[in-house]
Amino acid sequence: MPPPPRPHLNALPPYQPVLPFEVRAAQLGRAPEAIVKLDANENPYGPSPLARRALADLRYAHIYPDPESRALRTALAAFTRVPAEHLLAGAGADELIDLLMRVMLEPGDAVLTCPPTFGMYAFDARLNAARVVKVPRRANRESQFATSLDLDAIRRAAAEHRPKLLFLATPNNPDGSLPSPEVLDALLDLPTLVVLDEAYIEFADDDLGRSVSRITQVPQRDNLVVLRTFSKWAGLAGLRVGYGAFPAWLMPTLWKAKQPYNVNVAAQEAACATLNDLDERRLVVAHLRHERERLFHALQAIPYLEPYASRANFILCRVEGRAASALRRRLAEEHGILVRYFATPGLEDHIRISVGRPQDTDRLITALEATKQPLPR
Ligand SMILES: *Cc1c(COP(=O)(O)O)cnc(C)c1O
Repeated sequence: MPPPPRPHLNALPPYQPVLPFEVRAAQLGRAPEAIVKLDANENPYGPSPLARRALADLRYAHIYPDPESRALRTALAAFTRVPAEHLLAGAGADELIDLLMRVMLEPGDAVLTCPPTFGMYAFDARLNAARVVKVPRRANRESQFATSLDLDAIRRAAAEHRPKLLFLATPNNPDGSLPSPEVLDALLDLPTLVVLDEAYIEFADDDLGRSVSRITQVPQRDNLVVLRTFSKWAGLAGLRVGYGAFPAWLMPTLWKAKQPYNVNVAAQEAACATLNDLDERRLVVAHLRHERERLFHALQAIPYLEPYASRANFILCRVEGRAASALRRRLAEEHGILVRYFATPGLEDHIRISVGRPQDTDRLITALEATKQPLPR
């Protein structure tokens, strides 16, 4: 018998395969283009025209990519106003979450997260043999958001567990909430490296993330990391490209530890082209923000749904008087509409709906209206 895998991996929850889109469409007996896909916060408008052209004209697919993503990081420096020396590109923000943990964590170190939130923080922490310290968000009563951070509990947990990393999605996935500037400032005073995951920041702001983002503060602080992605606003989820802004002291280690060819040629070209097409992207983001508000009001009119205000490109809804999982199934099987359901504690009676095009909203609302009879639990 060869030796077993590392023992801490036995405790990892089993892999939950996400069915490829075409497989799911075939399962539902529909053509892929007949499916309304509102389950993964992708951009229904796809890549910008310049990004599409860059992909069609790709000349160097046979040459290894630039390991330092120089052209992309130069363009990102202009876009973010953070010097390129602080920027690292990755195969999606997901790669950078794992990379950061691999260089920072010893087995047994603590990582602080505030669930409900993006699942990769806890997953990657456990993969890296870290301890996950969870400080749940509070159900919100003061503001329009579904949840708010429990600042006192975070301070207590930080004092008790001395986490090396604190992960926070701003806006948060799955509820779309955004902490106040005062709360963020208080968190940045904690003696830990704070990672702000700004995967949806472009939807939180009118100007592609410039004013509510904290990214320009990264060079001035030694305890702030900001992660971004091209998967949502830029419509490049399938190409896997994201980036992060990191303090100067961390950069040499990240450069040493990352895979040399982590961002492929197509992803680098398409990301650069997107940054040359910002006027078009501003329009797309504005459409999605406008559609988010229209969707929100339409969902409010559905008697069994309670939608929460969101600053991202999705809306979390509480489902009342019927099983959320059954509603998800019925939307898929009878209407070809995919929404996200979470079997996680606290979210069992919720669904998350990504913002689509106006015709996607119309189809969804028609389907929800046709689903008025209580569903079996
Ligand atoms: C979608 C998402 C990401 C993943 O981004 P990729 O660049 O596609 O890896 C990261 N963080 C949050 C909160 C997300 O929702």
